[in-house]
Amino acid sequence: MLDSGLTQAATPRHGSRSPDAPLPLEAVITTSELNMRTLRDRDLAAEHLAMTELMDEMASAAGTTASDRIIRRLVDTTLRLCEADCAGMSMLEVDGDEEVFRWRAIAGRWAYLTGGTIGRFSSACGVVVQRNAPVLMERPQRHYGSLPGGDSIAEMLMIPFHFEDRPVGTLWVVSLENNNRRRFDSEDLRLLTSLARFAAIAYRLTLTQDRVAQLRLEAELADSRLLQAISSELITENDEKAFHERLLDAAVSIMHSDCASLQIFKEDASGGHLELIAHRGFSQEAIDRWESVDSTTLTTCGEVLRTGRRVVAPDLTKCEFMAGSEDLAVYLAGGIRAAQSTPLLSRGGRLMGAFSTHWRSPHAPSDRDLRLLDILARQAADLLDRMLSEERLRESDRRKEEFLATLAHELRNPLAPILNAVQYLELVAPVAPEMQWAREVIVRQTSHLTRLVDDLLDVSRINRGRLEIRKEQIDLARVLRTAMETTKPFLEQRRQTCRVALPAATLTVDADPMRLAQVFANLINNAAKFSREGGSIELTVEASGEDVLVRVRDHGIGIEADDLPAIFDLFRRVRPSYVHDQGGLGIGLTLVKRLVEMHGGTVSASSAGPGLGSEFVVQLPVVATVDRAPNTTSDSLGHGRGQLRVLVVDDHEDGARSMRRLLSVLGYDVRQAADGLEGLAAAEEFRPDVILLDIAMPKLDGYEVARRLRKEPWGEHMVLIAVTGWGKDSDKQRAADAGFDFHLTKPVDVGELTRALARAGATM
Ligand code: ADP
Repeated sequence: MLDSGLTQAATPRHGSRSPDAPLPLEAVITTSELNMRTLRDRDLAAEHLAMTELMDEMASAAGTTASDRIIRRLVDTTLRLCEADCAGMSMLEVDGDEEVFRWRAIAGRWAYLTGGTIGRFSSACGVVVQRNAPVLMERPQRHYGSLPGGDSIAEMLMIPFHFEDRPVGTLWVVSLENNNRRRFDSEDLRLLTSLARFAAIAYRLTLTQDRVAQLRLEAELADSRLLQAISSELITENDEKAFHERLLDAAVSIMHSDCASLQIFKEDASGGHLELIAHRGFSQEAIDRWESVDSTTLTTCGEVLRTGRRVVAPDLTKCEFMAGSEDLAVYLAGGIRAAQSTPLLSRGGRLMGAFSTHWRSPHAPSDRDLRLLDILARQAADLLDRMLSEERLRESDRRKEEFLATLAHELRNPLAPILNAVQYLELVAPVAPEMQWAREVIVRQTSHLTRLVDDLLDVSRINRGRLEIRKEQIDLARVLRTAMETTKPFLEQRRQTCRVALPAATLTVDADPMRLAQVFANLINNAAKFSREGGSIELTVEASGEDVLVRVRDHGIGIEADDLPAIFDLFRRVRPSYVHDQGGLGIGLTLVKRLVEMHGGTVSASSAGPGLGSEFVVQLPVVATVDRAPNTTSDSLGHGRGQLRVLVVDDHEDGARSMRRLLSVLGYDVRQAADGLEGLAAAEEFRPDVILLDIAMPKLDGYEVARRLRKEPWGEHMVLIAVTGWGKDSDKQRAADAGFDFHLTKPVDVGELTRALARAGATM
């Protein structure tokens, strides 16, 4: 037939094509031309006669032999009315494992092929059944390969016929390249459409009861397979937009419609409206007009909103509730003639949206189509519901994050003044020795609380993508030094030691010094926290290929194997029951992990089990390695730039001492001198980074000390801060002239002091 003996050629490859290479399928399909061709004259009398004869034939038919006769008659009539070279009826059958088309009857040139078969997917009829629509092909051999017998097809026009709404075969006509080279037009399509109805009846007559039952089963199976395929696509689609598109694709394919839309129900003061979230095939006017549909809109979806039930309008021009409305005019102007809208209902019966399909010509969807659409709508509603719940969860998660951030901020705010106030009290009115412990408790506990709140703030910043790290190329040893200094007070308190083993090379990493120090401080702190008092911790650094591995090992309570995988989870705290709770929020390790990841590294934990200690390994990329002498120290990495050295020069013994204490608490390395001369000597020996100089002092006043310091090569770059009772502008100017960098007025504001020190640190 048209597909007679045509076997599907290999899929064409892209790129250059040899003259014989098959064309892609789309290149031989020319269905859209049908409407553009001039119509041939109709012979209505001949047509009427032929149809009446067919009808009579059918009325008297019974049994398979009769159906054979009818089918022969049908193809003869088709050949004649369409003035084709060949006409035939192909029926889909299962042959073993394969689906084939059987040529039940062929009239004209290929009549001898009657009874033969061709594989479904090797046949042009396969395309027709697949699309469930008429198809016109021009010289199909260009795609399918040459025909036996040397025939060359000019055109073939095919139309599906149905059983139980499913396409089960085709009626087709062919014109050959020879003689008059007939071109088919929409008149032929109209004829074929009428004749296909006879084909469908003839098909039914060929079926036995068993076959009918079997075909129904097959139809149902095919439907469930289609739904199955659609639902697995829908379920795996996580992107909301793509999910909507897939729903529309599925609706269009199930309903054989030209357009489709998906709307979501939104509650409002007047009861609710439908919001358009995806559409297919609409005019811009329609999109703008129906972006939001309420119960006054005279569309099928507006009717769904009013009634809560499905609305089908097979011909909009005959639809009563739309009659004379602007909505109808918009439909028609956009080329839409039929529509249906199906409500999307939640399991509890709540309206969630509407699913509409539209056709360009009058169309009544079949029961089967609507049944399938209902199943799709059920799934769509469930999935939309799930997406909505997920969205709500995400929203509540976001709010929680925001709440945590606000909480941390609010907690942080009073902590700084408390700490400042206690330290300030010490500066201006040192407490009696017997009250000292109370002061220390306040400072220690407030500092602890501040650290916890800071961690909480950081985690919430990371979760909201607000934490920024400022990377620079930095010696890893320097970072570790800062971490050690931060944890030193805690280790001292617990009488623990930390041994450090560095490799014989300077390892440069690209890192935010503060944040990376925070990582190691957290790990060292944990190691100390979960080890007995007086225990030891080892910190080893080793180069490993392009990376460096930093291990923090302790001999403490260890970690159960079951707990290891979750140890870096937020708020995760695992504690063997026999271990006293050391406090903590379970955010330290989360912070460690996130910060290490932000530095392009990884962190892992291991433990031989409870009581056998733990080891945390941080792996980081190294940007440069420079050899240096090996270095193993205990408890400290020696002095370095990580800790600022500050010299306090003040003849007021108590003031100087409390200032020294305050700065030590704040993590600085501090010395004290009692007058100007002593101050000069201490500066030469201690080489501080910053000097806090009182101005009014015996022997040598602050201005003079500053001037002399500035003359020394080692004093040139020291940061000099004047701390005086004189705060007039002229005093400040005098200080600047003497070589001071900053000027602070007594009583010193702790915040101002730390800011000045931070600036001093940053400028060095
Ligand atoms: P926190 O210490 O505030 O509870 P972390 O996130 O720092 O939170 O640690 C999470 C949990 O991991 C801790 O509660 C503890 O159970 C366990 N853990 C962390 N470090 C160690 C360690 N060095 N030894 C044993 N357990 C540890």
